[in-house]
Amino acid sequence: MIWVVVLGVFLVCLGMGVVFSVYVLMLWYAGLREEASAAAAEAAEKKGRKSGLTEEELEKLEEGKVGAGVGAECAVCLEEMAEGQVARVMPGCRHTFHRPCADAWLQAHPACPLCRARLLPPPSQPQPQTQVTSPPPS
Ligand SMILES: [Zn+2]
Ligand SMILES: [Zn+2]
Repeated sequence: MIWVVVLGVFLVCLGMGVVFSVYVLMLWYAGLREEASAAAAEAAEKKGRKSGLTEEELEKLEEGKVGAGVGAECAVCLEEMAEGQVARVMPGCRHTFHRPCADAWLQAHPACPLCRARLLPPPSQPQPQTQVTSPPPS
């Protein structure tokens, strides 16, 4: 009779142990999934970071209009740049392209479409020195 009780207690313990193990396993699995998804998100973020210029950086680039008698060809779309079209002037090499063409290119490649000169971020304007006016000694 005592054996039945011992067996019953044993089975209950075993059942609880199994439930506990499954619970721990689920927690571990959830943690693993979370870790994996975090790593995937991080990788996506890295991948999403374009190597080209950002909108903000594009805004800082020089912009101009195609002048008269330039007769240049846009190296991106291979069409002639007509007078008066909005153009993008590459800093450094001064190559000129249609603005939409250049922007689309530059968002993927931080280099001049024609000569592949790497575009360095435009020199940041030196911050004007703020005059620290100390109060006159009284
Ligand atoms: Zn073009
Ligand atoms: Zn160039």
